[in-house]
Amino acid sequence: MMKELIVNESYCKGCGMCIWICPFNVLEIDKERINSMGYHPVKIAHPEKCVKCGLCEYICPDFAIFLVEVNKVVRSENK
Ligand code: SF4
Ligand code: SF4
Repeated sequence: MMKELIVNESYCKGCGMCIWICPFNVLEIDKERINSMGYHPVKIAHPEKCVKCGLCEYICPDFAIFLVEVNKVVRSENK
């Protein structure tokens, strides 16, 4: 089963804890976006570096970043 990293921008408070804990500098604050709460949300700036370790999901206090399991077959059928 493949995993995909998802950011729910509207929950993100831009606290930067996920950026801090990520060992591979995948994440950045998106200075060009402001969410409905008035925060700059985090963005997946370098998805190719992500090893899907789940540390960002573990540390986020707001459930704003998480891994989902992706069914490869369903994905290719939807394309
Ligand atoms: S899953 Fe791991 S490697 Fe990927 S962004 Fe989160 S902390 Fe970084
Ligand atoms: S995703 Fe979570 S840990 Fe990362 S900046 Fe947003 S609120 Fe903070």
